[in-house]
Amino acid sequence: MDTPVEVCAAAATAGPVRELLPARAVPLGAGTIVRRLLPTLGRRMVGAWCFVDHYGPDEIIARPGMQVPPHPHIGLQTVSWILQGEVHHRDSLGSDVVIHPGELGLMTAGGGIAHSEVSPLPHGPVLHGAQLWVALPDAERAVVPAFDHHAGLPVLTAPGLRATVLLGDVDGAASPGAAFTPIVGVDVELTGPALLPLTPEFEHAVLTVSGTPEVDGGPLAPGSLGYLGSGRSSLRLSADAPARLLVLGGEPFAEQIVMWWNFVARSGEEVAAARERWQHGGFAAVPDSGPALNAPALPPARLVPRGRVR
Ligand code: MN
Repeated sequence: MDTPVEVCAAAATAGPVRELLPARAVPLGAGTIVRRLLPTLGRRMVGAWCFVDHYGPDEIIARPGMQVPPHPHIGLQTVSWILQGEVHHRDSLGSDVVIHPGELGLMTAGGGIAHSEVSPLPHGPVLHGAQLWVALPDAERAVVPAFDHHAGLPVLTAPGLRATVLLGDVDGAASPGAAFTPIVGVDVELTGPALLPLTPEFEHAVLTVSGTPEVDGGPLAPGSLGYLGSGRSSLRLSADAPARLLVLGGEPFAEQIVMWWNFVARSGEEVAAARERWQHGGFAAVPDSGPALNAPALPPARLVPRGRVR
């Protein structure tokens, strides 16, 4: 991104743009600090992608690693994408799965689910990954909750790149992951100049997770998100040394949502009701996971629905 634009100037775009969204460091407790790329003040969503955290690579050989106690979700899907190490997912449906690099952990919260995510014991020396959320459209946001573990994702190879399709479809390589809006998520391992096919009707953003690739002619540093707008049928990429990036895109999300804590809803009242439900045992328990998280207090100001840009 050699032409960063002020985040506060971000607006809905009908064509290609280049806009740098810098990460915000967020402490998650237990000594873990993540880089939050979405939502930002100006740009809240890319397609239905509404939350992007990039964590690591962290040396955890003598540390507990990821320690996220049971907590609830509604109205969204979580995508656990591990680059190095492993994460043990347990949820209130009874799912009990260790997710490894290259495998998709896709949890559809729908009307409500609780889960925990921890580094297993023993665990590898390094933890590196991304935690992503996808907002569900109004008509399907209360679907029956589900957790799917897909170990065999399609891989697209082309000169200079190897792309694993997490969600959606790239050049006929379709992810088995359930999606509820037109969306795409791709992990691109880059070794040289390459061209990644895109869907022009989608808006896209790129998160560099390692190396310093050139994205559309400009460098994109690790841990940064470059917003690309829509109207692109391909994306020019290159790298002098191996680099890796996540390309996230989708049809611009037309609905306004309320995002608070772990909930995606349509009103402040709905958020408050989900919080009460969690605090009073209204979500099923997560087996073998220890004490659950307490919901924070609701903010004093009324939570109002917001669109994809502010
Ligand atoms: Mn979660």
